[in-house]
Amino acid sequence: MVITLEPGAAREVIEQIERLAARYPGIQPRRHTFQGAGHTVVEIHLVGQTATVPTDPFEAVPGVRRVVRVSTKYRVIGRHGGEAGPEGFTYNGVRIAPGQLHVFAGLCAVDTREHVDQMMAALAREGIVTTRMGAYKPRTSPYDFQGLGAECLPWVFELAGKHGVKIVAMEVTDASHVEEIRDALEAAGSPTGVMLQIGTRNTQNFELLKRVGQQRQFPVLFKRGMGITLEESLNACEYVASEGNPDIVFCLRGVKTHLGDPHRNLVDFAHVPVVRRQTRLSVCIDPSHSVGRAAAAPDGLADIYHVTGQGLIAGASMVLVDFHPRPELALCDGPQALTLDELGPFVEYCRRVRETYESLVKTRPQV
Ligand code: PEP
Ligand code: MN
Repeated sequence: MVITLEPGAAREVIEQIERLAARYPGIQPRRHTFQGAGHTVVEIHLVGQTATVPTDPFEAVPGVRRVVRVSTKYRVIGRHGGEAGPEGFTYNGVRIAPGQLHVFAGLCAVDTREHVDQMMAALAREGIVTTRMGAYKPRTSPYDFQGLGAECLPWVFELAGKHGVKIVAMEVTDASHVEEIRDALEAAGSPTGVMLQIGTRNTQNFELLKRVGQQRQFPVLFKRGMGITLEESLNACEYVASEGNPDIVFCLRGVKTHLGDPHRNLVDFAHVPVVRRQTRLSVCIDPSHSVGRAAAAPDGLADIYHVTGQGLIAGASMVLVDFHPRPELALCDGPQALTLDELGPFVEYCRRVRETYESLVKTRPQV
């Protein structure tokens, strides 16, 4: 059962609900706080055998907006029919929500200070404050470049600050990386923010999911599992939220099957509306890891653009995309990286498709 309070409800309302819940043996109230665009919304989730718990005593409490019985498993991230409830969050001054387009363009893997500087300078020229920078890289082979790890964090954060970058999406593959990132950010004077990325290979690393869910300092970019169903991925994502951190973006990045050849993965952006219907999360698409190559169609647009268009026209509001100043020198995923002279055109392409999506939604044929 989900009890949603009026925005800005007083602490007494929460306490009254928790006292009421205590009357029912075995029922645990769990508090979840969502940052809306202009206000904070609190939901209290009653967990346990709630079938015999009546809704009316809770509905009667002044300050309660609605009480919904949820049979669905996505208690926190779910949409539960009807109005969506709070969507999105604001982090380091950037509003991340289904209604806002963001392009997180950057290096798949941090390699040199110079490349990071060039990448971020290009972002600044385009007025972009969001990037991706992999420091901890999960690689298929132990002999491949594993990322520079904690060593690069001080200068990555310093350069982000220098170029006005507000959010760096950075994968964590172990719980200890959360502390390393927090410590390095603090030591650098917090010149930027970090969004913790859970990669496809760690989608079901439940201890890591719980760890990133137990903190709210950093929002989470959750990438779908490449070999599991969408439902399993959403359940895994719910782990993060159920531990107390609902500031999550769900990222589609293709699924593993040879049926997608010659693309690296089978592009799964048809799932954008499904995720949006089933959850209240913003949906991100990663065209780079989906397509895996820079090849272009006869119309002159790279496949990476085409699939980005497919995801955005379907309602995605965030794009995670690989760029590199010298793709031929990249230590990870060079073949799928776009070059810096393409940054402006790519961002312009994203904005135009998004505008088309918004106008289609506004003036859609009535059914
Ligand atoms: C990445 O974004 O760098 C990455 C490794 O992606 P994925 O986990 O989707 O393979
Ligand atoms: Mn990569």
